[in-house]
Amino acid sequence: MRSIATMFLTHLSCTSCGLRHEWSALQNLCTACQKPLFAVYDLGAAGRALKREALARREKSLWRYREVLPLPLDIAPISLGEGGTPLLPAACFGAEIGFPNLWVKDEAQNPTQSFKARGMAVAVSMAKHLGATKLAVPTAGNAGGALAAYAARAGLEAHIFMPNDTPRANVIECRELGAHVTLIAGLITDCGAEIARRKEKEGWFDLSTLKEPYRVEGKKTLGYELAEQFNWELPDAILYPTGGGTGLIGMWKAFEEMEAMDWVGAKRPRMFSVQASGCAPIARAFASGASSAVEFLDARTCASGLRVPKAVGDFLMLKILRESRGGAVTVDDETMIHTTREVGAKEGIFVAPEGAACFAALQSLATEGKIKPGERIVIFNTGSGIKYLECYEP
Ligand SMILES: *Cc1c(COP(=O)(O)O)cnc(C)c1O
Ligand SMILES: [Zn+2]
Repeated sequence: MRSIATMFLTHLSCTSCGLRHEWSALQNLCTACQKPLFAVYDLGAAGRALKREALARREKSLWRYREVLPLPLDIAPISLGEGGTPLLPAACFGAEIGFPNLWVKDEAQNPTQSFKARGMAVAVSMAKHLGATKLAVPTAGNAGGALAAYAARAGLEAHIFMPNDTPRANVIECRELGAHVTLIAGLITDCGAEIARRKEKEGWFDLSTLKEPYRVEGKKTLGYELAEQFNWELPDAILYPTGGGTGLIGMWKAFEEMEAMDWVGAKRPRMFSVQASGCAPIARAFASGASSAVEFLDARTCASGLRVPKAVGDFLMLKILRESRGGAVTVDDETMIHTTREVGAKEGIFVAPEGAACFAALQSLATEGKIKPGERIVIFNTGSGIKYLECYEP
């Protein structure tokens, strides 16, 4: 008799020192070196169990990639219909600036209106499965809303720490979804420090991005979806609005997994990190040739998702930007704000400032010759402008 595996996840591996960790216990950073852990799958078996052609018949959510996600196959996910977002041509905006083959992945169409839903759906599903009851997260805004929603749906407590200048919509959303919200006079890094100080005593499981292994698993589905939507040919360049970098790191992981399963070839998109001029630790480190990023002091930008002065995955991002022969660009707030209206008026999408930053970055990348007319280029609109009304009011 043939035994049926209930999952293809085999273990967790440290992205820096390689130390193996068990997936079956709640894990945060590597116990030896305090760097992020990655989920490792038996991709040979996963690729035999799931053929890419079979995906067309599956439900249109990220759980369609179930064989390469960590939750055992017989456990029901905590889901609100995340993933399966449209990849839209941005032909009008693109034509205007000489890029006829421009696309936007509209992540605002996720539950809670941002791509944070992808990471939280998978992380909360796993945290509940592994026995956590109280979840805590530091957030610049959208991660809080997503955690509040999935924790509520899972019947778990959510403890959310936000800077006191987080967009109002995010704060109200978290409260109305039943979360415990604490506003902190400081940045997301100060919120993270507060959780670290209290989590042991309070019994909280820390869901900070890349400080547990499964938010990146949810966000890697961005890479799977892109490949599927482009009929298994990856684009030439990707522009990603970068805070903690989880989506960028996740997509790169997805490309490697898909190649191992023979779903895509060896071609990789050039990966470009887009940051705000007021908070650009990765762009600064990229320019200086450094392999890790120093904290960006006095960080400020209205694109709250980009207000991450220090990211635990910095070394992974910098490696990807260089390996892919991509780069890093900065955009100031004023440019983001007026680009929002250009995109809105031309494409009918009310983008978040983070998404607008990527549209604005096209121009400088073109001027520097880093992207070329006719290349297939993908922008991520990671959230909705509707959550940022303060930014758009004169
Ligand atoms: C969190 C967030 C980002 C940054 O995402 P990372 O994967 O952490 O780099 C970008 N845009 C929006 C709207 C966000 O909420
Ligand atoms: Zn390690």
